[in-house]
This record gives sequence, C-alpha cells and structure tokens, in this order.
Amino acid sequence: MESTPLLSVNNLSVEFSTPDGIVHAVNDVSFSIEAGKTLGIVGESGSGKSVTASSILKLNSGVTASTSGSILFKGDNILGADDKKIRQLRGSEIAMIFQDPLSALNPYYTVGHQIIEAYKVHHRGVKKPEARKVALEMLRRVGIPNPEARIDEFPHQFSGGMRQRIVIATALINSPKLLIADEPTTALDVTVQAQILDLMKDIQKENGMAIILITHDLGVVAETCDDVAVMYGGRIVEKTSVNELFTTPTHPYSFGLLGAVRSLDKSARGSLRTIAGAPPSLLHLPSGCSFMPRCVFANDGHSKCSSIVPELELVPSTHSLSACHLRKDALLKLTTKDLL
Ligand code: SF4
Repeated sequence: MESTPLLSVNNLSVEFSTPDGIVHAVNDVSFSIEAGKTLGIVGESGSGKSVTASSILKLNSGVTASTSGSILFKGDNILGADDKKIRQLRGSEIAMIFQDPLSALNPYYTVGHQIIEAYKVHHRGVKKPEARKVALEMLRRVGIPNPEARIDEFPHQFSGGMRQRIVIATALINSPKLLIADEPTTALDVTVQAQILDLMKDIQKENGMAIILITHDLGVVAETCDDVAVMYGGRIVEKTSVNELFTTPTHPYSFGLLGAVRSLDKSARGSLRTIAGAPPSLLHLPSGCSFMPRCVFANDGHSKCSSIVPELELVPSTHSLSACHLRKDALLKLTTKDLL
C-alpha cells in the first residue's frame, strides 16, 4: 500500500516580472516526498531548483509575478495559506537551511540566544532556563564540542563547518517534519561537507524527518538521497531513484551530467559545468525542448525536439520518468555507449 506523501508539489509554475520581461523560473513541476526520505533536486545554476524550494515556504512572495499549481503539506495547500499559517509552518513543521551559514546567523547575538529565540517562537511561555537546556542539548546533538562554554559565543568565533552545524541546530530545534536544505555544504571543504551530510542523515534516522536537498553536486546526491529530480530550464526532465539515475539514466541531460562527473579530475568532482553550451534563458525559453541546443541526440531526426515541449513519461522497464521525445527504449540503449 502506498503511503500518503508528507509533501506533494503539483504542477507548480513560478514567474517573476522583471524590466526585461517575464522570467519563467519554474514550469509545471510536480514531485512528492514521504516522511523519512531524502529527495535530491539537482541542476545547474538557474535551473529553477532554488525557486522551487523557496516556493514551499512562500519565500518568493512579494517579488513573484505569479505562482500557480498546489503545494500540499499534510494535505493542506500551502499556496492558499495566509501569513499567520505560513509563520506557524516556518521553523516548526518546515525548516530551511542555506548555503551560507554566516548570512543565516545574526553577528550581534550569541549562538545560544539565536537558538533559544527560534525555540521560543514556537514554545510560547517557556522559561529561559528550560529553553537554554533544550538549546544545549541541540548543540551537543549537532556535534559542537563543549556546548556549555560555546553557547555564549558569537558566530564569528566558530569555523564555517561549526557555523553550519549551529544553523542546523537552529533549524531543527523545533523538530520539523521537513527540512529543506539549499546547497548546505557547497561553501564547506570536502571533509566538513561529509560530516554535515552525515549529521543530517543521523538526525533524520532519529526523528524521521523528510529532507529536500537542493544541490548541483551529483556526489552529494549519490551519498545522501533516495530519489532525485533533475531540473533543467525550470522543468523536471528526469525523476527517478538515485540508484537508477546512476545505473540507467534516461534523459540526455542526465547522461551529460554523469558523463561530466566521470570525466572530471578529483579536485572538480561533482561539478555540473562541463556540458558544452549554456543553460537556456528563462526569459526566452525555446518553443520545444529547452535542452535541444546542447543535446547530442537532437539532430537525430527528432523534429519534435524543436517544436514540442516533452512531457515526463514513464520509461519502460524502469521506474524513471523522463521528458524526452527520443523513443523510450532507445534512451535505455544509448545509456552505456554514451557514458563510456
Ligand atoms: Fe534531446 Fe530532443 Fe530529448 Fe530534448 S527531446 S533531450 S532535444 S532528444
């Protein structure tokens, strides 16, 4: 029996009005996630992954020209929720962490003050000593050594990795059901990156929260996620399990990403920037497949590539959804040849 998803995003589209025209940042995106699972959303810069994530907490409101579709959290549509409801959700049921821990922490307050305040917002009437006890326990849980001494220090007194641990402590202090992590380890060196990912996984095992991990790094996806949505030009072009993405990718863009990763030297491992060409302008999306200018299969007699936007469809003998006009069985045959 299929379990009900904790979060279900359906046909989400987000457009921004700019002096140069309408930016079609997210186009008809759908996905869902269950409790205890980790979904990776992967793509290059400007693929729409961060706007998709921000939409879940309505963080784009105010500058958004329009948002359509629905975002159901525990069955309620977040997009239709008022500000009060959204404030209740933020930090208590759904928490978000970003790439730069410094920008998430206030330099003028001690880390303890910031964690305690985050706790008090959703625990009105709690006494300070009790909140401090909870904050100390949380700091211990995220691996801050000697938290009794360090709770009264300021953000600049911590290393980048330790600061991200503090951001995670602040995000998790109210035991959210969903953590959205937008490039949480990109600013950290590889060793610290692995520690932070391990920490997130450990906490997930303990509390069963779902994680949406936004990343441009396929190495991070491989190590952390259960399922993955590959975004390109504001759309999901492939949706699959992590295992299938790495063994049987079914979209030419995914082939490119995996080929790029395999051809890179160690220092650049995981970068997605080696596919020839540039991502499309979200101001002027092409009428057909937006990957066409970079697709090595586009000139192979597929006239639909230039005129019809491909829909996500199930690829036979896999569990993958792929948005490509190539015959789906042909996609599978191409996999091995084009990755070697
Ligand atoms: Fe390439 Fe055409 Fe498939 Fe787009 S639809 S990925 S251009 S083969």
